[in-house]
Amino acid sequence: GRKFIVGGNWKMNSDKDQIAEIVKNLNSGPLDPNVEVVIGVPSIYVAFVRSILTETIGVAGQNCWKVAKGAFTGEISAEMIKDVGAEWVILGHSERRTIFGEKDELIAEKVAHALEAGLKVIACIGETLEEREAGQTEDVVFRQTKALLPAIDTNWENVVLAYEPVWAIGTGKTASPQQAQDIHASLRSWLTSNTSSEVAENMRIQYGGSVTASNAKELAACPDIDGFLVGGASLKPEFLDICNAQV
Ligand code: 13P
Repeated sequence: GRKFIVGGNWKMNSDKDQIAEIVKNLNSGPLDPNVEVVIGVPSIYVAFVRSILTETIGVAGQNCWKVAKGAFTGEISAEMIKDVGAEWVILGHSERRTIFGEKDELIAEKVAHALEAGLKVIACIGETLEEREAGQTEDVVFRQTKALLPAIDTNWENVVLAYEPVWAIGTGKTASPQQAQDIHASLRSWLTSNTSSEVAENMRIQYGGSVTASNAKELAACPDIDGFLVGGASLKPEFLDICNAQV
């Protein structure tokens, strides 16, 4: 089976004092041993978090550039994230797509390079409210996933897909378990047709968008929801309850 995987995406939040508190809480648990947990940290704190967080919890960058080094003022590379001890990077988050204008092609280049550099990748996809209302949800998430296929190549075991409907992010409007399950199942069947049944069967698909301790259990019970990518609630003690949603 697919191991449940919960990511916390802190986005551009927290400071050293708050981080110390969050990490203390995570380190003391208790955490379901059947769940994999990864924390997406602002890049400037990645090394600090890695140095104080229990080794059983992964650390992710929230973005990186598409080459190893060079004249790219202000950017960080996958190699640097790895060099300070982190194992993961989140790529293609809807905030990168909408606020910073990242397109499918650039995200694919980043995914290819991050995998080559030895990081594992949480690749984010999801439709806007306008796209959902126009009946384009599947077209959009299939297009976004298709763009990643050449980048991932045979590296599927190092990739997690995060389905995050943009209208559910930070809005308090969670997709209903049925809405989320429907898209996760469509994605899995799309993967069967466009990769292989083995890849589709093993692919972990996280749901993200206003996940809280009170809706996590019902979402986690859906057969094609293999974890969460949690924003706001990942900064709070309830994140542990979300990680333990399957217990
Ligand atoms: P919220 O959980 O705050 O809605 O954010 C979801 C998200 O964007 C995680 O990457």
